[in-house]
Amino acid sequence: MKRGRVLAVLVGGVFCLAVMSLYRKLEQMQGEEPQRDWETPAGQDLSLLQQKIDRLEYLLSNNNRLVARLRDSLLHHKASRKQEGGGANSSSEHAHIPAEPLSGCQLAEEKEGGAGGVQLLDVYDLLTFDNKDGGVWKQGFDISYRGDEWDEQPLELVLVPHSHNDPGWLKTFDRYYEDQTRHILDNMLLHLGQDSRRKMIWAEISYFSKWWNDIDEQKRAAAKRLVEAGQLELVTGGWVMADEANAHYYALLDQLMEGHQWLQTHLGVEPSSGWAVDPFGHSPSMTYLLKGAGLSNMVIQRVHYAVKKHFAQQQTLEFLWRQSWDSSTRSDILCHMMPFYSYDVPHTCGPNPAVCCQFDFHRLPGGRVFCPWRIPPQPITEQNVKERALLLLDQYRQKSRLFRSSVLLVSLGDDFRFVESSEWDAQFNNYQKLFDYFDQHPELHIKARFGTLADYFQALHRRLSASGTSLPTVQGDFFTYADRDDHYWSGYFTSRPFYKRLDRTLEATLRATEILFSLALAEMRRFHGDGRLVADFPAREHFQRLVAGRRSLALFQHHDAVTGTARDPVVVDYGTRLFHSILNLRKVLQSSAHWLLLLDKSQYHHDQSKPFLQMDDVISAQDALPQKTPLTLSDEPRSLVVFNPTEQLRTSVISVVVDSPDARVVDAETGRPMAAQISAVWAEPSRASSESFQLSFVAELPPLSLVVYHVTKAPVGSTPRARYTVYRHGNALTVHSEHFLVSHPQGQEADAPLSLSNKHVQIWSSEKTGLLQKLRLHTGLVRQVQVQFLWYGTRTAANQDKSGAYLFLPGEEGGQLYSSSEPPLIRVSRGPVYSDITSCFRHFTHTLRLFHLDGHAGKSVQISNMVDIRSEVNRELVMRLVSDVANGNRFYSDLNGFQMQQRRTLEKLPLQANFYPMSSAAFLQDSSSRLSVLAAQSQAVASLRPGELELVLDRRLQQDDNRGLGQGVTDNKLTASLYHLLLEERRGGAQEVGGASVQHLSLLAHLTSLSLCHPPINMVAPGDGQMPKLRDFVPLRSSLPCDVHLLNLRTLEDAQEPGSPSQEVGLLLHRKGFDCSSAPDPRPTCTWNVHEEVNLDDVFSPLRFRSVRRSGLTLLRRHDQPQSSRQQQLRPMEISAFRVQID
Ligand SMILES: [Zn+2]
Repeated sequence: MKRGRVLAVLVGGVFCLAVMSLYRKLEQMQGEEPQRDWETPAGQDLSLLQQKIDRLEYLLSNNNRLVARLRDSLLHHKASRKQEGGGANSSSEHAHIPAEPLSGCQLAEEKEGGAGGVQLLDVYDLLTFDNKDGGVWKQGFDISYRGDEWDEQPLELVLVPHSHNDPGWLKTFDRYYEDQTRHILDNMLLHLGQDSRRKMIWAEISYFSKWWNDIDEQKRAAAKRLVEAGQLELVTGGWVMADEANAHYYALLDQLMEGHQWLQTHLGVEPSSGWAVDPFGHSPSMTYLLKGAGLSNMVIQRVHYAVKKHFAQQQTLEFLWRQSWDSSTRSDILCHMMPFYSYDVPHTCGPNPAVCCQFDFHRLPGGRVFCPWRIPPQPITEQNVKERALLLLDQYRQKSRLFRSSVLLVSLGDDFRFVESSEWDAQFNNYQKLFDYFDQHPELHIKARFGTLADYFQALHRRLSASGTSLPTVQGDFFTYADRDDHYWSGYFTSRPFYKRLDRTLEATLRATEILFSLALAEMRRFHGDGRLVADFPAREHFQRLVAGRRSLALFQHHDAVTGTARDPVVVDYGTRLFHSILNLRKVLQSSAHWLLLLDKSQYHHDQSKPFLQMDDVISAQDALPQKTPLTLSDEPRSLVVFNPTEQLRTSVISVVVDSPDARVVDAETGRPMAAQISAVWAEPSRASSESFQLSFVAELPPLSLVVYHVTKAPVGSTPRARYTVYRHGNALTVHSEHFLVSHPQGQEADAPLSLSNKHVQIWSSEKTGLLQKLRLHTGLVRQVQVQFLWYGTRTAANQDKSGAYLFLPGEEGGQLYSSSEPPLIRVSRGPVYSDITSCFRHFTHTLRLFHLDGHAGKSVQISNMVDIRSEVNRELVMRLVSDVANGNRFYSDLNGFQMQQRRTLEKLPLQANFYPMSSAAFLQDSSSRLSVLAAQSQAVASLRPGELELVLDRRLQQDDNRGLGQGVTDNKLTASLYHLLLEERRGGAQEVGGASVQHLSLLAHLTSLSLCHPPINMVAPGDGQMPKLRDFVPLRSSLPCDVHLLNLRTLEDAQEPGSPSQEVGLLLHRKGFDCSSAPDPRPTCTWNVHEEVNLDDVFSPLRFRSVRRSGLTLLRRHDQPQSSRQQQLRPMEISAFRVQID
């Protein structure tokens, strides 16, 4: 009864407010008009009227949005109120929450299983990993053949020349380009031009496009001719050859799109084959993107030697790689796995490197490189051609026995090859002589030629279909890579964690900017009604900043960049690019927001030196963490603008730093005061700043909205302040804090476990360390979850290989519990908005935080770490969760944030082999609960014992690990890492633990991860009295469905006017699969659908899309489907890409 009345009053209030605000705006307009009429010639009356109507319409639509937002907010309140009352069963008044809560999840479940192909997890169970000496092919076996195998079908050899150009590794991108790459490409024009039989493939578009900018039209035409003639093939077409372990799928797609768009514009081609010979392990997320971008074949190389051997024995080195969650053939892509140790010449012609090296004519005696097997190559002459040809043919024939068809792919190249003319001549002339010899001797049954990947795969498909040979299907991933012995490449999952986190900061900034910029351009066109942009808005400059940001993020996905495996100066070069891009994107974000927020758009003025909006933090250098700038408060309201870059209505705690311990925040539009809290800013662990204070308040942010708040100084003592309790066992302690109550517990109180709770969860921590011990949900479910910190060292004996940038080679003692001579200082803070426990250890500061929020954002525990291990030698710091979840030896970690992959911890493997990449999530589960860890950065993860999950935070290693880098990783910095811990009950058809089943994150985990990876962005307006009137920008009527993620809204380049934005926007939607066994509790306000069909106009209302065309994932025009309706199919787990215009 009482609740009903409150609701009625609220609804009434909303209505009155909307009407009043509309009235007020109409009045303002009337006041403005006469002024304009003064300046307007009479002949333009009609167009003026038109403008008036447009503007009225515009204001009306904005008011509709305001009403919609309030309605959303009301619904949200109703939902949380209902949960409060415990009436979750009487859901009749919530039409948007289905009675059977998780019907939609079955869409994803239906797709599981089915295909009877090879499961890589099963292969791991099967293999003994015994590392037997295989003879000349050390990691393989003797290959035999009779000699008549090719009598019917000759061996068809396609020799593919390539040059692997790292966009940064030992040298920076620019240095490599100047010293090597430009000469390689210049010579390519010359030497391919000389003989039409010569071929070459090229992968890295970052280099190719840089070279293109440097060459004249004549050379460009020559390059185009080579491409058209099929002599030069652009393979993969990515900006870089991306890392597949640490890279997030947003960035993987970004670099692919950047490369593909460039190729479309400048060469008019689209890649059909993938080429990834150097990334340190391979992920099916990459293959999904390649397939979605229109590629049909791919080559991979760095796969565990034991897996390669097994695949070679089974003749499954060529297979159809299928997504684990897909039971159809839709995601299949033909994959060729190179069988031997490396992609260089010694390891590609056949099993014997000592022989193959003799056919790398760059290593002819007298040159700079030689054969380590001590048998040098010989130039091919009439005298030796027969002997040489037969020697090589023997290798080709042996290699061919590992494949099902008689077409053979052999690559010819290495890192930065074909720089000098002499090398081109040496390789192409000598091989041509061998090929000519084969041609003259049909009895050898070999046809050999130079070719591209397209040539090879064309021949392969022809042979396979002619012989009716089918290829096996493979599901799973190729982590963790080992190239020899127990040398597992699990170190690079964490190396240079500072930059792995900076990468994700740029990613989030880029996505937010893309979306806001696209929305701003659409609003401007709508505002004018004639498609024009606002004259003063620097659309072209901003678009170029966006493109530069895309390319910085793209470059950093290179397999020596985000991996943390480049030399120190190269790391600084990457860091500087990321840093500058963040700063530049912020400019775009600020001025887009500025225009969108202005009530009177005529007041818009762009001044880059004095932007109207500023971020509330400053990043001072490429290796610095962001620092909040204190806001100066007075009685005049300061405008604080918060952008919600997610497609969901979210309740977030917004924190800013202010210069007063008393502050008040109100919603600028409604005047409603926000629940707030003042906390200390700790200058030192036991000294609170007396000048700056943290103001935190609960904000309700509609999807993709910009919301304006007013912050003012408040009467002394009027803002609730956090209360502190400080512990340090064994030592007396003085805490300096003049504005906060600090208690020092004594006696029994000091020995009781620490505890915090909100309405969803209670946590207990050790009073000695402050570290988490136990978690309890309001439903009663209790789980032990202990947080521990550990050190790993490396091997110590002089002759032992040690950990480095790539490799993790821990000492035999394994992980050692972190201990410190001095007990940590522990600060417990309690407030109405959030409460937390901070433990200050010598090497890290660790904080557990609970937000006092009603909705799902209050369900998870935030864990943040500030790590500094610069004082250490050969040590790695790990955070471990020890729980009583009975997960056996199975756990799940994500691949590129795109999908979850089951992992099995195997005792037969060394410790370092059981570490896997984790970009965003991992979980443990048993039949009644699931414990998920969601991460804001990439790192290594393992579950070495049941119930445990460990995350590697930083590594400092003094030595090189012999993979070419030539240095250790000792450039550590103060490094932040951020997580959310989510415990959920599993019920209903609770699944058995384990099985090779495909699992997804729960809906709540998806939403938590979304909020974590895309935090709200705070901007402040100047504090002077000349403030123009700002109004919230609320583009969507309601949240997108819970399982539909707006991956991007990316403005495309104008084809007619290069460097300028077009009206076309790439709309990328990712429909996530979610887990069926846990109902989201508390219920999110978003809805989910049981159908694959979605109406885009409904979902994005009131935005409307014109000319919707479904396209490939990289939005190539040639992949556009005919203009289609707004009714679109969004399949679970899949990304859908559309070219649209926003009306
Ligand atoms: Zn490389």
